[in-house]
Amino acid sequence: MKRRDFIGSGLALAAAWPMRGLAEALKDLGDLPAKTLAGGDVMLRGSSVEALSASMRGDLLLPGGTGYDAARRVWNGMFDKRPALIARCTGAADVIEAVNFARAHQLLTAVRGGGHSFSGKSTCDGGILIDTAPMQGCRVDAEAKRAYLEAGSLLGQLDRETQVFGLATTAGTVSHTGAAGLTLGGGTGRLGRRFGLACDNVVSFDIVTADGRFLHVTESEHPDLYWGLRGGGGNFGVVTAFEYRLHPVDPVVLAGDITWPLVQARDAMRFYVEQALAAPDELNLGGALVTSPDGTGVFNIEVCWSGDHAQGEEAIKALRAFGKPLKDTVGPMKYVALQSAGDGGTPWGLNYYAKNGFLSSIDEAGIDLILDVAKSANGRFFLLLDSMGGAYSRVAQNATAYANRDAALWLGLIGGWKDPAESDERLAAMRAGWKRLEPITAGFYNNLAGEASSAALRANFGGNFDRLVALKAKYDPLNLFRLNANIPVKA
Ligand SMILES: Cc1cc2nc3c(=O)[nH]c(=O)nc-3n(C[C@H](O)[C@H](O)[C@H](O)COP(=O)(O)OP(=O)(O)OC[C@H]3O[C@@H](n4cnc5c(N)ncnc54)[C@H](O)[C@@H]3O)c2cc1C
Repeated sequence: MKRRDFIGSGLALAAAWPMRGLAEALKDLGDLPAKTLAGGDVMLRGSSVEALSASMRGDLLLPGGTGYDAARRVWNGMFDKRPALIARCTGAADVIEAVNFARAHQLLTAVRGGGHSFSGKSTCDGGILIDTAPMQGCRVDAEAKRAYLEAGSLLGQLDRETQVFGLATTAGTVSHTGAAGLTLGGGTGRLGRRFGLACDNVVSFDIVTADGRFLHVTESEHPDLYWGLRGGGGNFGVVTAFEYRLHPVDPVVLAGDITWPLVQARDAMRFYVEQALAAPDELNLGGALVTSPDGTGVFNIEVCWSGDHAQGEEAIKALRAFGKPLKDTVGPMKYVALQSAGDGGTPWGLNYYAKNGFLSSIDEAGIDLILDVAKSANGRFFLLLDSMGGAYSRVAQNATAYANRDAALWLGLIGGWKDPAESDERLAAMRAGWKRLEPITAGFYNNLAGEASSAALRANFGGNFDRLVALKAKYDPLNLFRLNANIPVKA
């Protein structure tokens, strides 16, 4: 064998070998320092960490070990946290072991699906991260119109596997978002006005609760939990699989962007509000107001019509004829292509911040205010609008934990930037902008909330809050699952 080949094969072998596995990492660390639920310090015995590792099929990663740094990354670069342990779960059996370990040691516990939490709740410093990301897979029963999704799967997988059968359910607008966090907190998307929230379409959940029990949850099995998991977020356990109801959806939708220059934005926004409030369920209209430091900017409407194309052409005729758009790209396109068209604009690792709220309508003064805030952004953030109503609102407010059923529109303020040195200035500008906008909103979407006080959270769940508290006391009295839109154990 030539020397070059030998080195080559040696490197390949080394790369395939866990170079710094658990044993080495523990040898350096001895007992493992960690954080408790109460915020205190604890030393975990090396032997008990080894026992957890031995009980899992997936990897248990420790600081300094191979794969640890990659596994601790989350989508929002603002959160650079170092869990004491990362349990890379490969199935419900690993999740049960990790939950039992976390509870037994009263460890600060984070749960991760796709890692897209805006507020960085799916990681922690010094605790255990129960990572469901290795749990990937989607099986579709086209006849029964059901999708069975493993909890670590991303939305792109759900869309792709269902659309091949001409089926779909509501999923979010960026395909690298995790299905778990999105669904448990609600789940809005381009099909939501037709089929309701992603969580409205869940027929069953498999979950490991805080006491380490595995439960299959449906309308008739553990119905209280079935109610709470549809909008109550990660408060009640680690979901390991979802069963979604699917609907026939033509793989080609009528979609694209209509864009007006900033000088026409006031009129175009007024027209947008009129159209969004009156739109048929098949029509989703997403607005975006983007301004640059040089004072230029655009108001963009992303159109998605998911019904019959001829009816769609008719439904969007007035919108296309409005004013003098800079561009109009609306035409037939694949739904899965539309669902990933925004992926590049929201890459992993940038610093992100967001605020949002729901509205019943927007009057003239509201439009002026939104425009004024957008003009003050100087390129540091942009504003988004989305149409709600439709099937979102046809579910009673107390039918699921998700409470914001009567909203007609949604307003979001979002910024993303690379250089951490800009963070203070950007955050100040975004908080100031939102302070002006918040009074025209009522309630907010938990899944896109950057930060929310417990009083705001309580008000946001409205009449559902007390029932959620009772459920939390029943299924997670220790508040093991607290890194989320947290429901307290006592009111
Ligand atoms: C680029 C981008 C686009 C988005 N677009 C939309 C959209 O169109 N519609 C929409 O509704 N939302 C949207 N969101 C918000 C999204 O719903 C939330 O960020 C959601 O938390 C993402 O889920 P995840 O699994 O990736 O999150 P993670 O960060 O992994 O988890 C967030 C939280 O969910 C809980 N959780 C995660 N996995 C589990 C599990 N297996 N069991 C129990 N609890 C769990 C935990 O409490 C965790 O803290 C978007 C977010 C981003 C970043």
